[in-house]
Amino acid sequence: MDNCLFCKIIKGEVPSNKVYEDDFVYAFRDIQPMAPVHVLMVPKVHISSVNDLTEDNADSVARIFAAAPNIAHQLGVDKSGYRIVSNCGEDAGQTVFHLHFHLFGGQKLKTEMC
Ligand code: 5GP
Ligand code: ZN
Repeated sequence: MDNCLFCKIIKGEVPSNKVYEDDFVYAFRDIQPMAPVHVLMVPKVHISSVNDLTEDNADSVARIFAAAPNIAHQLGVDKSGYRIVSNCGEDAGQTVFHLHFHLFGGQKLKTEMC
């Protein structure tokens, strides 16, 4: 999608600190990390949010979760533990409307609302 920040990051039009890429998934460090490890995992196809998942495009989510253990291992948090979160819509605080999953780790994570 033309005016989407994460589509631009995937295409390399906006710089990012990439940690993982395959044919379906792109993962990069969050620009304002909220934990020592804070990565955003996104599908390469544009899907705005969880609200726009369907039977036809939900494979993207499976691909992301298939990549997640490798990303966690690469970043050294697979043994210590990590959390994966997707914010959907205003009340959840979604600010970028390209589906993404935050992967947090590297410290004892607060449990509020999770
Ligand atoms: P949301 O609030 O939509 O769940 O998460 C969006 C995330 O994108 C935020 O954690 C924010 O810090 C991150 N973000 C926003 N703009 C950029 C950017 O240009 N580059 C990177 N790497 N992360 C960004
Ligand atoms: Zn997009």
